Amino acid sequence: MTKNRRAAFYTLGCKVNQHETEALSALFKERGYDIVDFAEAADVYVINTCTVTHLADRKSRQLIRRCLKTNPDASVVVTGCYAQIASAEVAKIPGVSLVTGTTEREHLVDWLEKMEKDEKPLTKIRDLKEVRAFEEIEAGRIIERARPYLKVQDGCEQYCTYCIIPFVRGPLRSRPLESAVREAQKLIEAGFKEIILTGIHLGAYGRDLGEGFGLERLIQELLELAGDVRWRLSSLEPVEVTPKLLGLMKKHGNFCPHLHLPLQSGHDEILRAMNRPYTTGDYREIAAMVREAVPDVCITTDIMVGFPGETDRHFESYLEFVDEIAFGDLHVFKFSPRQGTPAARFPGQVPPQVKEKRSRQLIRLGDRLAYRYASNYVGRRLEVLAETRIKEDLWEGHSSNYLVVRFESAEIRRGQIIPVEVTAVEGKVCYGKVIR
Ligand code: SF4
Repeated sequence: MTKNRRAAFYTLGCKVNQHETEALSALFKERGYDIVDFAEAADVYVINTCTVTHLADRKSRQLIRRCLKTNPDASVVVTGCYAQIASAEVAKIPGVSLVTGTTEREHLVDWLEKMEKDEKPLTKIRDLKEVRAFEEIEAGRIIERARPYLKVQDGCEQYCTYCIIPFVRGPLRSRPLESAVREAQKLIEAGFKEIILTGIHLGAYGRDLGEGFGLERLIQELLELAGDVRWRLSSLEPVEVTPKLLGLMKKHGNFCPHLHLPLQSGHDEILRAMNRPYTTGDYREIAAMVREAVPDVCITTDIMVGFPGETDRHFESYLEFVDEIAFGDLHVFKFSPRQGTPAARFPGQVPPQVKEKRSRQLIRLGDRLAYRYASNYVGRRLEVLAETRIKEDLWEGHSSNYLVVRFESAEIRRGQIIPVEVTAVEGKVCYGKVIR
């Protein structure tokens, strides 16, 4: 038992990585480590890496060097997607003690202690082709966030041509239903009022578990759990929105009316080149089906500009299509060629200044649409989760339909859901007063 050893964690990348770091720090805590801030001196540093872009890789390497400056005698553990795809490169960085990938990290503390006993660096990377089981690590109660993630799915087999994730996350793996429900119950007992279901390809949940184990079944089971909690989906591929799922969202007030449906491109030629499994026509129908079933729903999206071969004509269609769908908000990304993906070798790479110009234009449109969506709620009541105290009695949080709302209150505590009447909108932020 290594009492009072200190461990510090740093996360790069997505919601799934953030959840996994929380779970890894819970693992260390269970084994008697004190969890300290990454800037502090620690005996062990754990860096959960991302490899979505080369920039993410470089950031991971910089962090490794930084923590060795803070404590040259520390053990440095590098895990996550960059470690999975470039383990040899990572292991070569002086001072790196343990390299593990994106699987089987329930053994991470054992591997660390074995490495320290043998005083020999260790690499533990599993060939993803062999991986079948879902990695069972739970975050438990030591979650900083007011809205915890519940990871229920891993892996992706869609192979969008710009994406490296299937190569670092492997085949589809779903968390067994009872295990997902068990952790959900713990989060509800811990007092969390909103839980976000997440995964690498959430909509593919259950495909590997057999007939009748789809995402709808999981959501149905979670919605039936006792406790005053609301459920949000982190992101869904557009084609994975089903009438059954919308039926659940319509019927259950605690199933947040918010769907993040990545569009990625607003032109069919580019969607085909991206290997996205839908056309703009399909997307338009899906959005209409969603709004038909859940009128107050907020649809948000991701869209990428500067994909190889994208012309001004394509981009004009993006602007028209995004405006037509009238998203509640959108995240704009600039295509970045990722070695190891087909799109990195595609002809017609778009110059950086053109990507920059297009992304600004799309962000401006997104801001206008977000303002328009938020303005629909002036004079209306929203159930807001108090997440951040901006200053004094000024709080900020998300409504169930994913609006950012600020309100004044001296009596509440973080994590509570507060009824707020919206009185004004500035930019993408609603301002309101607490309904007593
Ligand atoms: S669906 Fe496409 S973009 Fe999403 S993780 Fe899979 S390959 Fe990547």
